[in-house]
Amino acid sequence: MSIFKNYIAGEWVGASDGKTIENINPATGEVIGYFASATAEDTKRAIAAAKEALPKWAALPGPSRAAVLDKAGQLIAARADELAETLTREEGKTLAEAKAEVMRARDIFKYYAGEGFRAGGDVIPANTPDTLLFTKREALGVIAVITPWNFPIAIPAWKIAPALAYGNTVVFKPASLVPHTALKLVEILIEAGLPPGVINLVVGSGSAVGNTLAESKEIAGLSFTGSYAVGVKIYEKTARNLVRTQLEMGGKNPTIVLNDANIPLAVDIAVRGGFGLTGQACTATSRVIVEEKVADAFTQALVEAARNLKVGNGLESGVQMGPAVSAEQLQTDLEYVGIGKGEGAKLLVGGEPIPAGAGFFIRPTVFEDVEPGMRIAQEEIFGPVIGVIRAKDFDDAVAKANGIGFGLSASIVTNDLNKAMRFADRIEAGVVKVNEPTTGVALQAPFGGFKGSSANTFKEQGRAAMEFYTRTKTVYVKYG
Ligand code: NAP
Ligand code: MG
Repeated sequence: MSIFKNYIAGEWVGASDGKTIENINPATGEVIGYFASATAEDTKRAIAAAKEALPKWAALPGPSRAAVLDKAGQLIAARADELAETLTREEGKTLAEAKAEVMRARDIFKYYAGEGFRAGGDVIPANTPDTLLFTKREALGVIAVITPWNFPIAIPAWKIAPALAYGNTVVFKPASLVPHTALKLVEILIEAGLPPGVINLVVGSGSAVGNTLAESKEIAGLSFTGSYAVGVKIYEKTARNLVRTQLEMGGKNPTIVLNDANIPLAVDIAVRGGFGLTGQACTATSRVIVEEKVADAFTQALVEAARNLKVGNGLESGVQMGPAVSAEQLQTDLEYVGIGKGEGAKLLVGGEPIPAGAGFFIRPTVFEDVEPGMRIAQEEIFGPVIGVIRAKDFDDAVAKANGIGFGLSASIVTNDLNKAMRFADRIEAGVVKVNEPTTGVALQAPFGGFKGSSANTFKEQGRAAMEFYTRTKTVYVKYG
C-alpha cells in the first residue's frame, strides 16, 4: 500500500523518521492507507517555509489571491463526488452528509474569493486640516491551523480560505483520523495555483506536530477547533508568545420544547440535531429540555423516531446514520451510557453497539429522567445520545439550559414570539436557533461559542473571520 506524503515548502515529503499513521474506515475496519507522520523537525520546516513565502503572498493584490481561491472552489465542485466518498470512507458520516459538507467547502472558497476584492480599512476624521487618517488591514502572518476529525473538509476550509484571502500563509495540521480529505484539499489548492510554502500540510500527532505549532514563536496566529481539554493546553502555550489564538471547542447543546410546540416538528429537530452526523458535531443536540405537559408525548415520539433510523455504512444508500468515527469514540459513547444508567437516568432506546462486522456502530440513544447535574447532562459525549430533561415552565427550562459550562449553540421550539425572543435574550450561547436544530450554520454569518466552548476571542466564518486573520495599522498622512 502506498504512503501518502506531507506537503512542505512546495514538495511532497515523507516523515523524516519514516513513521506513518494508519487511516481506518470506521464502517468496515478496512485500512484506507498510511500517511507520513510528521516530526517536530518536519513541522519546524513547514513553519519556516510558510514564513519565507509570506512577504510575496501578502503583497499580492487581493484580487490576485481571490483568483486562486475561486479556482479552488471550482476544483472542489469538479471533484465533489470523489471528495464526498473519501470523506465518508475515512470519517463515517453518510454520503449525503459528506456531499453537503463538500459543497459547503466549495461555497466557503467562493465567499472568501469575494473577500479578496473587499477587505480594506476605514477613513477616520482627523484632528488637523489636510490630514488623511485611515486604517489599513494587512495579513497577520504565518497561521497554524489545527482541526478536528468531525468536519474533515468544512472546518479546514473555513480557516484556510480566509487565512489565504487576507494574505497569510498556512501550516495545516488535520486530525490524525482524517488525513485523506485534508491531503486532497491541499492537492486542490496547489492545482489552483498557490505558490510553494503558502500552504503546508503536516499530518502527525498532536504531541509532535500540534505541540510544535503551539510552542512556535514564528507563528502569528493559531486557529484551533477541537476538544476543551486540548484547546486549553494549546492556549497556555500560545499565550507565552503572545500568539493570537482562536479556539472553538465542545458543546452540550440544548433544545427547549415548550408546551405550544408542534410535536412532530420538535421531534424532527431533535433527531436531526442529536442523531445527524452520528451526534458527532460540536453543535449537536445532547439535551432536550421539555415542558412537563408535552414531555410524555414528545419523548414517546422521539423514541419511535430513534428506533426507526437506519444505521449503517454511510456509503450505502438509504443509511441515515453512520458509525462512530473510531473504536475509541464508540467506547466513550458506551461508557457514558453506563454512567447515565448508574446516575439513575432511564435508558429508553439504544445504548448498545451494533455488531456489524468490524464497524464501530451504536444505536441512536435516548435517556429520560435526566437531572441537570448528572454527568450525561453536563459533559460532552460526542455520540448519538440525547438526554430528556423535564422543566416546570419557560423560566425553569432556560435556567436548566444555561446551567452548564459550555455555550456553543441552543435552540427552542415554540410559536410564542414573546418567549422565542426572550430565549434569544437570555440564553448563554453564541448560536441561537428558533424552530431549527442546534446544528447547521450559515457560512456567511459569525460562528463561535460562549463560556467553555470558546476562547471567547474571535469569531469564525463570514466577515468576522477578517478580524482574526488581519492586523490593522493606523496611518496619519499630513499633506498640507
Ligand atoms: P481533539 O482531540 O481536541 O483534537 C483536535 C485537534 O487537535 C486534532 O488535530 C488533534 O490531533 C490536535 N491535538 C491533539 N493534542 C494536541 C496537543 N497536545 N497540541 C496541539 N494539538 C493537539 O478533538 P477531536 O476529537 O478531533 O474533535 C472533537 C472535538 O472537537 C469535540 O470536542 C467537538 O465539540 C470539537 N469541535 C468543536 C467545533 C466548534 O466549532 N466549536 C467544531 C467541531 C468539533 P490528533 O488528531 O493527531 O490527535
Ligand atoms: Mg479514518
